Amino acid sequence: MDFRFTPEEEAFRKEVLQFIKEEMPPDYGEGGESQFDLEHFEFTKRMARKLGAKKWLAMNWPEEHGGLGVSPIKHMIFKEESAYHRIPGTDMGVGGISWVGPTLLLLGTEEQKKKHLPPLAAGEKWWCTMYSEPEAGSDMAALQCRGVAHGDEYIVNGQKVWTSGGHIADWGWLLVRTDPTVANKHHGISLLLVDMKTPGVTIRPLINLAGHHYFNEIFFDDAHISKANLIGEENRGWYHTMIALSFERSGGVAMAAGARRSLDDLVEFAKKTTINGKPLAKDPFIRHQLAELAIEIEAIRMVGYRIIWKQTKGEIPGVEAPIVKTLASETIQKMAKVATQMMGLYGQLSLGSKQAFLNGRAADMYLSANNIIVAMGTNEIQRNIIAQRGLGLPRT
Ligand SMILES: Cc1cc2nc3c(=O)[nH]c(=O)nc-3n(C[C@H](O)[C@H](O)[C@H](O)COP(=O)(O)OP(=O)(O)OC[C@H]3O[C@@H](n4cnc5c(N)ncnc54)[C@H](O)[C@@H]3O)c2cc1C
Repeated sequence: MDFRFTPEEEAFRKEVLQFIKEEMPPDYGEGGESQFDLEHFEFTKRMARKLGAKKWLAMNWPEEHGGLGVSPIKHMIFKEESAYHRIPGTDMGVGGISWVGPTLLLLGTEEQKKKHLPPLAAGEKWWCTMYSEPEAGSDMAALQCRGVAHGDEYIVNGQKVWTSGGHIADWGWLLVRTDPTVANKHHGISLLLVDMKTPGVTIRPLINLAGHHYFNEIFFDDAHISKANLIGEENRGWYHTMIALSFERSGGVAMAAGARRSLDDLVEFAKKTTINGKPLAKDPFIRHQLAELAIEIEAIRMVGYRIIWKQTKGEIPGVEAPIVKTLASETIQKMAKVATQMMGLYGQLSLGSKQAFLNGRAADMYLSANNIIVAMGTNEIQRNIIAQRGLGLPRT
């Protein structure tokens, strides 16, 4: 493994940093902005269009599909800097760039690629992912949302839940049961593309613990979806989704960069702040907690680099992806705890409170940190995968 970046890659990093300096308000994110809260979404859209015009959003895709055909390393540099500097919307909703596009490149028809990839890469169309249902989360293959083949369409009925960004999405990535008669529940599932404006699709907000409108529940009542929107083969959707999930779980570098930014903010805060006459930066407990976080974030970054390096060699990341997801989410949760501890009772003040330190971001982080432990597959499920695929332990 070569840890150095090439001079061209280093020059690209500088170009990205220059763009950020020119285009991002320096205090963006300091108010705890959440990318899908509607009050912030206009800015998110503007940034996506600017990045799309530079062809950076999906720069590792082939030129004919809106990319620049560059290496995953260069794209990783973009993702690392955009996560550190909190540029919102670089995934075009949830998964548009990270797994919808890459899976379409592998499995999509020419027509699907032509229709969906260029607007994604240009920062114009927003996506959401609809796998989870009230009775199918970790056990995703238990899903019941039905797609009944009828002529050249599927008629879809059922419910999805926890659909991140569903309220801002133009298109959705939907898993439905197309054959309920199969003995093996992993069979009989199909993957469809859905125009979110289709009659019969209803989106209802779910407000999360921290008060943000991030996810939704989606209802399908006789929604007609053209068979031209089927991904890959009918009833093979489970296997196609496993490919999409391997793309989804490879975002370690961005997670490390986002965590590093929050840590840097806490370190700055510690350097500037005295509580009850004591400078925070001299408190041995806080110093060790911050150092511990720095160690973990560096480890996440290295495993994240390893995933991308494997991708450049055409290999599929194995246990690195669940390792990085588990470690990153637990480090972020730990950081939220450290942040609130550093501030004492002030750490409980909510976003926008006048007396709060860091605009109340510690409390917001504390409430939001549980999300990532559960999202993308819970950490118990990630540990099951590591035990089975990484350690060779038998399936339970
Ligand atoms: C912030 C956020 C965003 C999300 N975004 C999306 C989205 O955009 N699209 C989407 O489809 N879904 C989304 N989800 C849903 C997410 O994928 C599910 O919540 C997750 O897979 C867990 O499913 P569940 O909530 O039904 O919990 P359950 O599966 O009911 O799990 C309950 C508990 O049991 C544990 N458990 C379950 N099975 C096992 C097992 N075999 N071994 C050990 N422990 C087990 C779990 O770890 C968990 O602690 C999101 C969730 C969150 C929190």
